[in-house]
Amino acid sequence: MSHVAMGRKQCPVCLEIHDNGAEILLHRQLKDIKDQVTGHHLCEEHEQQEKDGFIFFIEISNTPDNDQETIRQENANRTGHIMSIKREAAEGMFNREVELFNFVEEGVIKLIQEQTNHNEDV
Ligand SMILES: [Zn+2]
Repeated sequence: MSHVAMGRKQCPVCLEIHDNGAEILLHRQLKDIKDQVTGHHLCEEHEQQEKDGFIFFIEISNTPDNDQETIRQENANRTGHIMSIKREAAEGMFNREVELFNFVEEGVIKLIQEQTNHNEDV
């Protein structure tokens, strides 16, 4: 055992637990401490996608509460479908600015895929 551990991060896109952006944890009273998840940080793959100008759509089966426009990570009931798309393409499609993370209702990712496939055919 060790007094030092890794504060690992969970990717908000794919939920993978990883060391990208991890921090070193040191127990205050120098007691044994284990690796643990301390927050959200993009994994290497999705961090690279963000740098390349992609944004993320995460499909969920629940909808935000009436008075809330966005849904919190911990409340999201994920279906497992995620998609990344170039920001410009998404903004062109939705005709407005889009966030880095977007929770969408079931079926929306399929619609986006159909739309983008269609664009490629033109
Ligand atoms: Zn990821």
